[in-house]
Amino acid sequence: MIEGDVREIVTVDGPRAAILRRRAKAAGKVTPAIQRLIEDMVATMRANNGLGLAAPQVGEGRRVIVAEVEERLVILVDPVLVMAEGEEVAPEACLSIPGVTAPVRRAARVTVAGKNRRGRGINVHASGLLARVLQHEIDHLDGILFLDRVEDPSTIEHITAERVAAGVAVE
Ligand SMILES: [Zn+2]
Repeated sequence: MIEGDVREIVTVDGPRAAILRRRAKAAGKVTPAIQRLIEDMVATMRANNGLGLAAPQVGEGRRVIVAEVEERLVILVDPVLVMAEGEEVAPEACLSIPGVTAPVRRAARVTVAGKNRRGRGINVHASGLLARVLQHEIDHLDGILFLDRVEDPSTIEHITAERVAAGVAVE
């Protein structure tokens, strides 16, 4: 894997925020440009200690997501949630919404179909934290932010560095 460039994260209070609310376009063929985007997204996710990242968060309105949980790196181009079952409520945070965390209800187990970085069709089966991250990232491709899914606004908390170190998912 080529080392990608760390890109600036688009945040809700920044000048490029509008892209976070748009539906991203299908990537289609996995071209060298898409592969380059993937490399940059992985580098950017790791540099920010994120568990996942969606292309709109680096300013690209394409349907590409990356996630890395417990050393399992998942790359999905044009991901589609094909199975979701069970439910779990757990805290989330987002690199594009600095400083807040809140519990979100998500499916406990998912299967996501898509293409890998070589353009081959794959199915990713995930549970727990990885399932949560994948749902959070697919939401980004549809212009949905995790705060939209918070059921009780009084549960939104300011996040501290200690809390992040303790393992709150930041996506
Ligand atoms: Zn996010």
